[in-house]
Amino acid sequence: MIDEHGDTVPLPTVSSDGGAQPPSGDGPQPKPPFGPIVKKVALGVAVCLVAGAGYAGLQHVANAPADPNSRGTHQPAATTSSPPDQAQDGVQRAVAGDAVLQKLTDAVETENRSEFMSVIDPKATAFRASARTIFGNLGKLPLGTLQLRYVSDDSGALTPDRQAQLGGSASWLAQVEVSWQLSGYDATPARETLPVTFVTRDGKTYAASFSERFATGQRQAVWTLGPIDVAKGKHSLVISLDSESEAKSYVSVADKAVESVTKVWGKNWRQKVIVYLPAKQSQMEGVLGAQPNTYTQIAAVTFAELDTPAVGAPVRIVANPKLFEELGKQGRRIVLTHETTHVASNATASPVPLWLAEGFADYVAFTAVPVQDASAAKELFKAVRAGKVPTALPTPEAFAASATELPQAYESAWLACRLIAEREGQDKLVAFYRAVHVSKSSTGLADAFTSVLGMTEAEFVVQWQKYLERLAGA
Ligand SMILES: [Zn+2]
Repeated sequence: MIDEHGDTVPLPTVSSDGGAQPPSGDGPQPKPPFGPIVKKVALGVAVCLVAGAGYAGLQHVANAPADPNSRGTHQPAATTSSPPDQAQDGVQRAVAGDAVLQKLTDAVETENRSEFMSVIDPKATAFRASARTIFGNLGKLPLGTLQLRYVSDDSGALTPDRQAQLGGSASWLAQVEVSWQLSGYDATPARETLPVTFVTRDGKTYAASFSERFATGQRQAVWTLGPIDVAKGKHSLVISLDSESEAKSYVSVADKAVESVTKVWGKNWRQKVIVYLPAKQSQMEGVLGAQPNTYTQIAAVTFAELDTPAVGAPVRIVANPKLFEELGKQGRRIVLTHETTHVASNATASPVPLWLAEGFADYVAFTAVPVQDASAAKELFKAVRAGKVPTALPTPEAFAASATELPQAYESAWLACRLIAEREGQDKLVAFYRAVHVSKSSTGLADAFTSVLGMTEAEFVVQWQKYLERLAGA
């Protein structure tokens, strides 16, 4: 989803780039139980998506109701306990928790593992293992900054059973804002909210979990999900959670994607891309803050690792491990070039209509990795030959995962962009995109049609229809 209005609903629209079977297709390998989108993926097609910054952050978490089964008295002021005492307890918890967080970040900065582990609950055996992994992961990343900010806590969030299990004189769950910036890649820090369980024992406070009561749709930092492997390219940073797919084997394709995009878009962007390679789909859903199985048919997603979309936000590409692997080398290059186009053009925080964002990304991808029209626009040509020439440029709804004519939407958007490039030159296509992108007006698209292309949208549509008929041989 390209979040056009900066709204705060975590509802990424799923979309697919249909139709781009490479000339040297791997042959038919239908997967009977799946619908047409997955079949296309199996054929080596670029499937992608842009996720707007899904809102799953602090407010959401802070407002999340506690476990309904919990008998805790966490309703502020609605209980009989005296507010001043509650406030004082809250301050004490915040001070104790903050000290733990400070120790953790200091230990990461000074690369002191025993200091880090000294504030991890000695009784939380499983968590100690993941804490060691997290410490190791942070050491592998080119971290510019790492901050943990104690935001809020909820003394009723832990069930009495859980509190009994933790023991100690006090235990509670706090929401902690994690800000982290990758040096040389991020203009601003990425942000997530981490639920941290604290326990005080014998006067000392420890962190006992980083994963308790995750709210649905809450994004998770990639380095909390398992051991990572990090590889640095000339233009890329690949972070793999998959011990079997080495990060460095993906660096060259990511580097090439950046070079291909720069060739079209120009040098006026960071020319850096960060790619996450999860080992499991659940890890992909974790970094995106997605519901389970939202992305079963999506090969890769471009998303801003922030709660509010903004130009300059840290943007990452996350691959769907299974589909990405199945794509083959050429398909992966098409997908990464497409996604990198979204990164370069700030598609996660842009007012450009979806047809232009997706069509342009495909234009760049298919310019870098040429494919035959007949296979790349197969569904569209079939429709055009059957007399179903599109009457308008594809609507945002046409790019929804559930859209029945999804491949045609991508194919017709791609060919709209290619027509502009063929008629006016590639530079004009880029200028057109930029004009719409920077426009703050609701008539930005119409204005760009007349000022950059010298025609109205309606005039363009007539030409585009003729172009599609000619290409399709209708
Ligand atoms: Zn896309």
